[in-house]
Amino acid sequence: MSDTSLPSRAKVVIIGGGVGGTSVAFHLAELGERDVVLLDRSDLTSGSTFHSAGLVGQLRADPTLTKMNMHSVDLYRRLQESETPPSWRECGSIKLASSPERMEEIRRQIGWARTFGLDLHEISPSEAQELFPLIDLDGVVGACYMPSDGQVDPSQLAQAMASGARKAGVKFFTHTRVLEIRTAAGRVTSVLTDKGEIECDVVVNCGGMYAPSIARMVGVRVPIIPMSHQYLITENFLDPQAKHLPSLRDPDNLIYFRQEVSGLLMGGYERNSKPWTADHTHFDDIPADFNGRLLSEEWDRFEEIAINSQKRVPAMEQVGVKNFINGPEGFTPDNEFCLGETEVGGFFVAAGFCAHGIAGAGGIGKVVAEWVITGEPQMDLWHMDIRRFGAAYKSPSFTLKRTQENYESYYDLHYPGEERKSARPLKTSPAYPWHLARGAVFGEKSGWERVNYYKDHETDDELKPYGWAGHYWSSAVAVEHHATRTHAGLFDESSFAKISVSGERAGDFLNHVCANDVVRGVGRATYTQALTTRGGIECDFTVTQTSENAFFIVTGTAFGTHDLGWLKKQRRELGFGEVVLEDVTGAYACFGLWGPNARKILEKLTPQDVSNEGFPFMTSREISIGDIPARATRITYVGELGWEFYVSTEFGAALWKLLFEAGEALGLMACGYKAIESLRLEKGYRAWGGEINTETNPWEAGLGFAISKSKAEFIGREQLLAHKEKISRFLVAITFDDIRCVPLGNEPIRVNNQIIGRMKSGGQGYTIEKAIGYAYLPIEQATNGNKVEVEFFGAWEKGNVAVTPLFDAMNERIKS
Ligand SMILES: Cc1cc2nc3c(=O)[nH]c(=O)nc-3n(C[C@H](O)[C@H](O)[C@H](O)COP(=O)(O)OP(=O)(O)OC[C@H]3O[C@@H](n4cnc5c(N)ncnc54)[C@H](O)[C@@H]3O)c2cc1C
Repeated sequence: MSDTSLPSRAKVVIIGGGVGGTSVAFHLAELGERDVVLLDRSDLTSGSTFHSAGLVGQLRADPTLTKMNMHSVDLYRRLQESETPPSWRECGSIKLASSPERMEEIRRQIGWARTFGLDLHEISPSEAQELFPLIDLDGVVGACYMPSDGQVDPSQLAQAMASGARKAGVKFFTHTRVLEIRTAAGRVTSVLTDKGEIECDVVVNCGGMYAPSIARMVGVRVPIIPMSHQYLITENFLDPQAKHLPSLRDPDNLIYFRQEVSGLLMGGYERNSKPWTADHTHFDDIPADFNGRLLSEEWDRFEEIAINSQKRVPAMEQVGVKNFINGPEGFTPDNEFCLGETEVGGFFVAAGFCAHGIAGAGGIGKVVAEWVITGEPQMDLWHMDIRRFGAAYKSPSFTLKRTQENYESYYDLHYPGEERKSARPLKTSPAYPWHLARGAVFGEKSGWERVNYYKDHETDDELKPYGWAGHYWSSAVAVEHHATRTHAGLFDESSFAKISVSGERAGDFLNHVCANDVVRGVGRATYTQALTTRGGIECDFTVTQTSENAFFIVTGTAFGTHDLGWLKKQRRELGFGEVVLEDVTGAYACFGLWGPNARKILEKLTPQDVSNEGFPFMTSREISIGDIPARATRITYVGELGWEFYVSTEFGAALWKLLFEAGEALGLMACGYKAIESLRLEKGYRAWGGEINTETNPWEAGLGFAISKSKAEFIGREQLLAHKEKISRFLVAITFDDIRCVPLGNEPIRVNNQIIGRMKSGGQGYTIEKAIGYAYLPIEQATNGNKVEVEFFGAWEKGNVAVTPLFDAMNERIKS
């Protein structure tokens, strides 16, 4: 399929004609954007798409991805009725639990599925065998069945979407290789191919495993590793008249099956993964002639999977192998897609589908097309957003280690709080050696080592949560929580992402992009959101005015690249080119000192007035602490009196030691991030990516207080005001009297047997002695004292709704 003459201009150029590119083309056309050209260096589907196994499963750990996959199924059903049906077969899917722990996961997933209206239900081992008679039930504990899952022919699917797009006016040029992408003033301007140049406003890189090399043409890093991925197809041996088998996954045995003609297709995730073309010192260049090709068979690496498949389906021992496929596929370091606009304006990426690109393609095309047309995503795509990757992913070595770790543990059970093991330690605070010497247990975020808690603080397991929430739990967290509430806690928050904003119009710029008024005078700190044009929460951070034309933004460890990327985009698009934006994360260590004794400790170390009147809440200034010059900001994320101290990194180790030693006699304890989480949940402070995101607006999130009433203009204001008139849901805390009954997120919530929401987050509140979760409930249910039920692994527990903060509702402690 190829049109004849390459146009000299198109609004959108899509690079890559696999399921990704054809779906983006299809959805752009559906949304009315027809000035679109799709280019492929070879034939359509000649990358990873043609050798895919074609299983389509919908339920994923991420609610957005689940909704996207549900859209895929709706689309494939629809295409099946078109003139170019993609052989969509709604054969259903079974997931087996070959361990009690897997059965817990299944029960948890059944709960999530309910919140999406997806029909996923538990079935007994013998019911699983009735549906898939070839299985041996040895070791099978239970199973679940999703009737609306299915399988599709991947090449036919791409052709069907291409055909739909083409009918609507999208032009396709195969055997047209992109050689260069040109930019001006930070935006794409044209694509140079071996057949000519096309001027354009937008380029969508749908290059699959080739996407990193395409992105390098504009200096953008897309951290995708081509990994070898294998499956086999048996000879035909099934009764062709019998009912088509559902797909079958047995993750404990690392295997999956689906029916292929009258045989079986069987594949899995090898424990000894194998990257292709990338290594620790080389990026991921795919050979120029690698299209429509496969890699050579690697039976050795497949052996464990083959043996497991024979245990679960004994017929596999007898039946011959017709085909063995080893095909490369682009995997990312966290097994999520790479979607969205990059730091180069108009240069989008939709790649890195990690062996679920066929299931995802319909949804991916939809969300990316919406993003291209409106300039921002219409769903919360944070987990898939290209801006989640920090600078470390520029390293092929770091990317490779993370990707392999992820690939090899793909089918493992991942308990909440599980930490990555590869490529550690990488980024450390100046106080890291101190933490290490005191028995700190570290977690990892965006490459930073962060103290989770200190092992020495552990006591007994009396409060240990039931089930999964107890897996990585430590009693030290409660001890650190109480020390902060009763005396003082010292927290190392050096990993916080920090952005410096300066220039004559820096204040105007920030007041245009932030919903709160952040230009309130030198020394004032302001909590604010930055909104999407639809009034959703794009960023959530604190802005401190440090001089007339200089501001200091502090945001979450994982959000630096995203927030800076978003600010840079606004700077480019709003004409604030002279404003200087700089990531200064590594330049400053940050320590939080909080608790009723925080002032007494600080007073011992500084000549400055740190009284409530002399140093009010939400102000910031340069002070000296012992011999050390520091910026102190009176702010809190734990709901206690205290300060954050920012010091040039070289002073960090000395400052930490000084603060700790000064505080010891006043009951100060060094504390970790798990205690922060518990303290902030009690106080009701929101976390972006947890309770708030682009799909939530400040009114329903209870953040109306951070919206400026005086500013006549800021991004998203109009929509925000419209939202205020029709708030239909509200973020509430739901508490459980049994503190060991801890929600993890995504659990369904019901009233009178009607599902009314799903949990966003959860944890333990050690001061209020309750377990806590947060959820958006319909406004009529969001009332103090309302009773709801929440499903934990198949059992319904009673919870109490609270709209007002669970701790220090009047802010007396933080303002004392
Ligand atoms: C063995 C195997 C089994 C799989 N099984 C499943 C499954 O059961 N279910 C599932 O959901 N997913 C599965 N997948 C994953 C799925 O196949 C992929 O995620 C999907 O096909 C990727 O599509 P894509 O469009 O991103 O990339 P591709 O199909 O690789 O398309 C990229 C295109 O970009 C083109 N291109 C590259 N560079 C240039 C250039 N410079 N100029 C122009 N064009 C260029 C290439 O020619 C190629 O056609 C499997 C993958 C493998 C390898």
